[in-house]
Amino acid sequence: MTTDPRMLSLWHDTAGEDWTPRPPLPGDTDVDVAVVGAGFTGLWTAYYLARADPSLRVVVLEREVAGFGASGRNGGWCSALFPASPAWLAARYGTEAAVGQHRAMQATVDEVGAVAQREGIECSWAKGGTVSVARTPVQLERAREEVRTARGWGFGEQDVTLLGADEARRRFDATDVLGATYTPHAAVIHPARLVRGLARAVERLGVRIHESTDVTGIGPRVVSTDRGRVRAGVVVRATEGYTAELPGLRRQLAPVYSLMIATEPLPDATWERIGLHGRETFNDHRHLIVYGQRTADGRLAFGGRGAPYHFGSRVRPEHDREPATFEALRRVLVEMLPAVRDAAVTHTWGGPLGVPRDWCASVGLDRRTGLAWAGGYVGDGVSTSNLAGRTLADLVLGRSTELTALPWVGHRSPRWEPEPLRWIGVSTALRVMTTADAVEQRTGRPARRAQLVNRLLGH
Ligand SMILES: Cc1cc2nc3c(=O)[nH]c(=O)nc-3n(C[C@H](O)[C@H](O)[C@H](O)COP(=O)(O)OP(=O)(O)OC[C@H]3O[C@@H](n4cnc5c(N)ncnc54)[C@H](O)[C@@H]3O)c2cc1C
Repeated sequence: MTTDPRMLSLWHDTAGEDWTPRPPLPGDTDVDVAVVGAGFTGLWTAYYLARADPSLRVVVLEREVAGFGASGRNGGWCSALFPASPAWLAARYGTEAAVGQHRAMQATVDEVGAVAQREGIECSWAKGGTVSVARTPVQLERAREEVRTARGWGFGEQDVTLLGADEARRRFDATDVLGATYTPHAAVIHPARLVRGLARAVERLGVRIHESTDVTGIGPRVVSTDRGRVRAGVVVRATEGYTAELPGLRRQLAPVYSLMIATEPLPDATWERIGLHGRETFNDHRHLIVYGQRTADGRLAFGGRGAPYHFGSRVRPEHDREPATFEALRRVLVEMLPAVRDAAVTHTWGGPLGVPRDWCASVGLDRRTGLAWAGGYVGDGVSTSNLAGRTLADLVLGRSTELTALPWVGHRSPRWEPEPLRWIGVSTALRVMTTADAVEQRTGRPARRAQLVNRLLGH
């Protein structure tokens, strides 16, 4: 790794970690389960497997260090969001399955907090919910529609509720607030502390983690690395935004970048004005996804999409940093919260997330080849990866459970188009979303092209 891990993000910088890599794979070895990637997906899988059957020989192989990828760098929203909507899932798997998937996500938020507590992981997990403010009449209509749709699927007041302007501002006093949706099903975390603490918990359970070990190929019951070959009954691919770099998997998940900024710790008086007293995660109802949290040390960490997709699904360290996107994020943050105009931005960073062609995350195990996978979370992976880890443990152990019956299990997303079609498609969708909000602001009407892109994606 060329970069000092502390430079990767606010979270890496403040995790209080010694980032010296664990020893690499010492040479050829045989195990029961080989996990590729030491992010949340790989580590949760190892965690639940080792707890369920301590006799299993589980090894985790990581090219950099545990928590190097999105798991160490994200917005810290441990939410119940799942990238495929109930309507999309219901059309393919039925209503009960679709609702079951979203209910399982709600329970997962608490499961993450429970494990953090049980394992003594100090990751500042706090369940304050999410407040999504509506700052234009079009956004307000979208907020109302969201609540109406949720009711149609049987989600009640305890799941999502519409707040009037005053109540919304009491939670989060952004500019131009006309109302908000609020859901209690979300917590905030310090992601690097969770992923690093999880790595230690997994080791305490007897799992071996080898860092600085580059996996060069994954095949049926075998993993090739620059340090030797691992033969395994099951091979779990947990490489998310980096998957396209593996041989034969270039069109599996498109790496789309999400970027973030963080301010210096803000004075109490500023927090008095902003709110977020329950450490609610926050955003607004614009098209282009933005997300924020009040950190445990009193900063604002704020992120969003909008960075370019790179031809050929290239993933490079330099793509983590796009000055124009950082500047745009700062502009949006100050426009929402003028009280932070003079606050210094102390950290800027980003990373790739994995986007499947149909935007539906999936998890599965092909028993014939012993190849297992989980991912395609499209930026909702903090809690979804926990559900994936529990599900993979059940699948590997041959158990039929409520989790293995969920509709995302065994779901196969189509592959992305070859280039240049992939680049044209992803870039166009990103551009439409980026301009849609400006169009709405100017015209006061819903941006039709953004609605069309959403419809094409089935969301
Ligand atoms: C800036 C940003 C903000 C985000 N915000 C949120 C949020 O607030 N809430 C949310 O739910 N989700 C968020 N996400 C998404 C979320 O972080 C991810 O979905 C989740 O962390 C994915 O976990 P993972 O373990 O599957 O992948 P990763 O954490 O990316 O782990 C994959 C690991 O595999 C390793 N690897 C890759 N290739 C190889 C190889 N060939 N050999 C060995 N090792 C390899 C990588 O080094 C990496 O450590 C965000 C993502 C980003 C980038």
